[in-house]
Amino acid sequence: MISNSELFLRAKQVIPGGVNSPVRAFGSVGGTPYFVTHAQGPYIYDIEGNSYIDYVQSYGPGILGHAHPAVVEAITKTAALGTTFGAPTEAEVKLAEMVIERIQGLELIRFVSSGTEATMSAVRLARGATGRNRILKFAGCYHGHSDALLAAGGSGVANQGLSGCEGVTPGAVADTVVAPYNVVPEIDETFAAVIVEPVAANMGLVSPNSGFLEALRKVCDETGALLIFDEVITGFRLSYGGAAEYFGVNPDIWCFGKVVGGGLPVGAFGARREIMENIAPLGGVYQAGTLSGNPLAMAAGRVTLEFLDRDAYKQLTTTAARLADGLTDVFSSAGFSALLPRVGSLVGLFFGEKSPTNFDEAQELAGNGVYPKVFHALLQQGVAFAPGPYEGLFPSLVHTDEVIDRTLDLTASALESI
Ligand SMILES: *Cc1c(COP(=O)(O)O)cnc(C)c1O
Repeated sequence: MISNSELFLRAKQVIPGGVNSPVRAFGSVGGTPYFVTHAQGPYIYDIEGNSYIDYVQSYGPGILGHAHPAVVEAITKTAALGTTFGAPTEAEVKLAEMVIERIQGLELIRFVSSGTEATMSAVRLARGATGRNRILKFAGCYHGHSDALLAAGGSGVANQGLSGCEGVTPGAVADTVVAPYNVVPEIDETFAAVIVEPVAANMGLVSPNSGFLEALRKVCDETGALLIFDEVITGFRLSYGGAAEYFGVNPDIWCFGKVVGGGLPVGAFGARREIMENIAPLGGVYQAGTLSGNPLAMAAGRVTLEFLDRDAYKQLTTTAARLADGLTDVFSSAGFSALLPRVGSLVGLFFGEKSPTNFDEAQELAGNGVYPKVFHALLQQGVAFAPGPYEGLFPSLVHTDEVIDRTLDLTASALESI
């Protein structure tokens, strides 16, 4: 049997850092990543035969848990009919109709293959639609890895300790202004867009202060800038209609990813008709993709959304609360000052006295050295949290009360070993 460390060595010979996305290399927690063989429901298994209760769930897509039978069946049946055509399919129309039915104010949507493509295209659309250049983003918000949006990014960028990114020219970020989260920025008529994670979920979990999103809506309306909600995490997770419905604030442009692909590579962006009509072939903003609207991905997304009715969100929220409240008790009994900020079904984990409201505060807590110890102690007990302090926890619909309670017991044992 090959071990994780042997395979990691082999991987490093042929893949930079041994991984295809930096956070997977365990750089910020130390140690060797587990190499996955398979996963089922809330569990994930590695090549050494270890099993873990998985709270990563691929950083969000696994809202039904791993390898949901209905999703697997849809993908399998679809694959037998051909996997990509470069021509339109009914599956794309169906998924578009389903998304538009859920999101009030969204009239046209285009599917792409990742969240990165969705936000990158949304920024291009905003610039094309307004004829303006500048965009404003918030420090600690992660919007994928397109050049213009990499400045002061959360998630993997923050885990690497990068404030910016080599290879991104000053020109590429010259029109990107970075502002602190939860402070209403002053913008003028030179701004094409303000892009925001309506709940920041890539600097740990940081909730928007009450009135923050409403105020962003207002400054955009006053200046003619377009408000972009990056709902790659919040979309189809926070509520039936995502963050826009949850907070009662509509953006001009929505970006989706993760859940909407049901575990296959998908992103999407959309807006009201008048804005989206700037996209080619209707308008002059070019955007395309060989695998966009891929039939396997459309099938997986459709089946996933079919399970996500309003009751599913009640269940997810109850589960998230059980996890957050339970962990709060377990940590506090063991003498740890843990913070489990929660917004609906979204949960984060920090160690400190006061939940952060922006990236500076989040970085202070993320850098205090507690997370890696807790992470490894948990992994040893068979509980997989994300290998970095800037990610949230992603309980799914198959993280039953029993699974959560088992997690709490294992956490208590883990903390004794620290
Ligand atoms: C994951 C994420 C992205 C990037 O999506 P990819 O599919 O990894 O390119 C963008 N925005 C947010 C909020 C994300 O969490």
